[in-house]
Amino acid sequence: MKQFHDSRSCHAYLSDEKWARGFLCRKCGHEASVKGKRTFHRRCQKCLYDESPTAHTIFHKLKFPIEHAFAMAYLLSTMRKGVSSCELARQFGIHQETAWFFKRKVQRALNSFPRAKLKENVEADETFIGGFEPLKPGRSKGNKQLVQVCIEVEYPTHGKRRGKIKNADARVLKDASTNSIKEALDLTWSMKMPSSQRMAGAATNRQQTANGTTSNTARMEPISVSSTGTYSP
Ligand SMILES: [Zn+2]
Repeated sequence: MKQFHDSRSCHAYLSDEKWARGFLCRKCGHEASVKGKRTFHRRCQKCLYDESPTAHTIFHKLKFPIEHAFAMAYLLSTMRKGVSSCELARQFGIHQETAWFFKRKVQRALNSFPRAKLKENVEADETFIGGFEPLKPGRSKGNKQLVQVCIEVEYPTHGKRRGKIKNADARVLKDASTNSIKEALDLTWSMKMPSSQRMAGAATNRQQTANGTTSNTARMEPISVSSTGTYSP
C-alpha cells in the first residue's frame, strides 16, 4: 500500500487500470481520446465527454481522501476476520455511517467479480473434505462436505513430456446426485454438452465409486471431460 500514499498515485493507478485496454466513450462509443480537463481525466475526441478516473468506480465522490479509501479497501479485502465500520471510522477519522457506506460498496465490488470458468479440457472429481470420521467411510458424509474439484488441463503436446494444470476451481455440492454434479459442472466449466452425455458421465463416476475402494477421504475416480464432449474415466 506504500505506493498509494497520496491522491495523485491513487488517481494515476485508477486511470491506468480503467483505460488499460484503451478508451471507450460512454456517451458515443468513440474510441479516440485526448487528455481531459484535469490530470488523469480522458476526454472523448468526438463528443468531448470528459471522464475522471474515479467515475463509475467505488472511489467516486468520496467524503474523505482517496488514499484513505484505498487503504480501507485494502484492509477490507485482506483482513481474514473482517473490519467493522466502527474500527474503520476510528482509524481514518470519519463518521461511522460514512465508513459503513464505503464498506458496503467495497464488499459489493468484491462480490461482483465473476469467477472465470474453466475452458476446454477439464477433469472433474468429487471428494469429501472434513475431519477424520472412522465410522463414516465413502459417501456417507457425516460432517464432511462433498466438494467437486475441477482442473483445466493442458495435455502434453509434441516435444513436451508433461502436461500442466492451467487453472482450478472447487465447489461445495449439495449431495452426490447426478443433478448436483451437473449443476456444479455447469457453473465451473465454460463448455456445453448434450445433457445425455453429462448424465452418462456422472453415472459412470458413481458406479466406479460404488465398486472402488473408499478410504476415509472417499477417493473417487475422476471423470475426464474433453473439449469434444466425451467423457473418459
Ligand atoms: Zn464521445
